Amino acid sequence: MKLIRLTCGNCGAPIEVRKHARLVVCPFCDTHLKVIRSDGAIYAIMADVISKSARELDVSAERLDGAASDLQNNVNVLRAENAIMELDEEWRWTMHAMSRSSRIGQPRLPTRSGAVLMVMAAVIVLSAYFLLAEHWSRWFTFPVFAGVVFLAWLTWSDASEFRDARTEYVRRRQALMAELGDARSALEGR
Ligand SMILES: [Zn+2]
Repeated sequence: MKLIRLTCGNCGAPIEVRKHARLVVCPFCDTHLKVIRSDGAIYAIMADVISKSARELDVSAERLDGAASDLQNNVNVLRAENAIMELDEEWRWTMHAMSRSSRIGQPRLPTRSGAVLMVMAAVIVLSAYFLLAEHWSRWFTFPVFAGVVFLAWLTWSDASEFRDARTEYVRRRQALMAELGDARSALEGR
């Protein structure tokens, strides 16, 4: 049986192993050694060093995976936060575009009840005028009333448009908030 001379990787003692042996126990220090053949060289190193290195590699890979998924979750949180800010900004512009300034300078948004109130006020004021006015100027109330109804109709349709826009804004914002919640819990859940 052919023997090869090796040096123990732990204590440095000379040991002899069989030609094709893969594992050997050092007779001097009782260390389990693995026989490594690489590029014509042959040497013995501690088996637990190898498994320890492999374990450390596993741990490192796991940490790297964790870091990558943390990074991805952070990106998701930032992306959702950014989308919400953009949506809010867009909504502020929409509100600005849809509001009419009142005399006090406060932006006022069109409402359907506003349109109804306009018509009701016109009916009351014009009825009183119709009853009290001279005969020749009474008929003036009808074109004025038609004008008020037209303005009320414009307000009503603006109000409907605004209402639809707000519904869409609220729907999109809720969806983004849910996305943000998922991204945050994924980040904290680790
Ligand atoms: Zn040894």
